[in-house]
Amino acid sequence: MRINERVVALNEQPVNPKARYVLYWMQMFKRVEHNHSLIWAIRRANELRLPLVVYEGLKYYYPWASDRIHTFILEGVEEKRKAFEELGIRYIFYLQKDSDSPKQTVAKLAKDAALIVTDDFPCFIIPEHNRRIAERASIAVHAVDSNGIIPMSKFEKEEYAAYTIRPKIKKMLDRYLVPLASEAVDIPSIGIDIDDSFETIVTSETIPELVAACDIDHSVTPSEVYKGGTGNGRKRLEHFVSDILCNYDAARSKPDRDGSSRLSAYLHFGFLSPLEIALAVRDSDAPQESKDAYLEELIVRRELSYNMTRFNAKYDSLEALPTWVHKTMREHADDTRQFLYSLEELERGETHDELWNAAQREMVVTGEMHNYVRMLWGKNVIAWTPSYEVAFETLVHLNNKYCLDGRNPNSYAGILWCFGKHDRPWMEREVFGTIRYMTSGSTGKKFDSKKYIAWTKRL
Ligand SMILES: Cc1cc2nc3c(=O)[nH]c(=O)nc-3n(C[C@H](O)[C@H](O)[C@H](O)COP(=O)(O)OP(=O)(O)OC[C@H]3O[C@@H](n4cnc5c(N)ncnc54)[C@H](O)[C@@H]3O)c2cc1C
Repeated sequence: MRINERVVALNEQPVNPKARYVLYWMQMFKRVEHNHSLIWAIRRANELRLPLVVYEGLKYYYPWASDRIHTFILEGVEEKRKAFEELGIRYIFYLQKDSDSPKQTVAKLAKDAALIVTDDFPCFIIPEHNRRIAERASIAVHAVDSNGIIPMSKFEKEEYAAYTIRPKIKKMLDRYLVPLASEAVDIPSIGIDIDDSFETIVTSETIPELVAACDIDHSVTPSEVYKGGTGNGRKRLEHFVSDILCNYDAARSKPDRDGSSRLSAYLHFGFLSPLEIALAVRDSDAPQESKDAYLEELIVRRELSYNMTRFNAKYDSLEALPTWVHKTMREHADDTRQFLYSLEELERGETHDELWNAAQREMVVTGEMHNYVRMLWGKNVIAWTPSYEVAFETLVHLNNKYCLDGRNPNSYAGILWCFGKHDRPWMEREVFGTIRYMTSGSTGKKFDSKKYIAWTKRL
């Protein structure tokens, strides 16, 4: 049942009036400011004259769990504990290392809670988490949407493409592009008596040993370039707004330069809110064309992806594609593929195409891939695998395994875009049919590809 444009009640259970606190289960919006879930939880706690407890857990068995993803998340924990302490809110972080570690920690904390507030994120493991907690809890569960600038509920159905969602966003933007004031709890919870026996204390010094002790993929190592947490995200945001944004319009398509925000991992883990970024960009002195170009990506393109995963249950398969793509794929399924590579060859970046290998190397080493080569990277895998299905699975696997910003609505929409989602038919050719085609030859001429390749070799 919808409570307001950002909040839904996930079950019909009552609020427990005899409880000792309100519980906010922080899953995706890992920040203290510009967080609608936290604000909703604070308001409910104050209304009920109860303190608020915030819980964040990190388990070892989510798909693609690795040292890279774990480290990035853990790098944001210590600063959050300090920030919550200043707000008078008890924050409990728990790292579940392996199958012997304590389980059912949300359920344990929920026993003394009046209601659970959690994050409404439209893809990956979160919808299933929310479905299960709502089914099992004997108290009310509210899920809050702090994903985008415009609430996802303002769109009634799946949008066809950027040109259909853009005018709707433009109409609503002034109403939503406004600062979100922080709110304070009336009753502090710092010293609250609570079952916290499973809590993990994280400091920057202990992160490597904590990660090493987890039953996860240790072959994907922490990024040397991107460090997690709101503080690190804000440093990058400040650098972007003061030094890079003024040329964004031209430089964003040049992988050989530091020309885009590189904020997608901070957005994915909710360390930064899109609202904070959009306001910083809007209020900067950069030329209007650069601000508009950036806000088109951050708001229109990003919210189109969230809209797709919210309304299209098949977002993680080729079934999410429009009819014209299915038709052209049927017609070209048996076309001869000139080059065929196995997953292992692709993963190691061992193809005949130096630019593609460089993009793959950037992703494997840094945990990110530049937007411009990412499109080419995806398109080429369609040409180099035996079927469209294998291409899709390969792309999802590599993107989600190595990219810090993977497992996001943008991951699925970006990969599906390579197959024609949110696009239109182009000139017909082998294998691609009428799906838009890109070659390393022509893409590589639009920037200094030699410089980019050389840079990835030094990584
Ligand atoms: C094959 C493929 C896979 C992709 N996988 C992901 C992914 O896993 N996670 C992810 O966040 N993005 C993904 N994208 C979209 C895009 O490539 C990245 O968002 C962008 O490269 C992030 O870099 P940036 O922060 O410097 O972007 P900027 O150019 O600075 O853009 C600002 C923000 O706008 C949003 N944005 C930018 N481009 C797009 C786009 N095309 N679609 C939707 N939102 C966009 C991002 O949130 C980004 O941080 C993918 C694109 C393709 C073609």
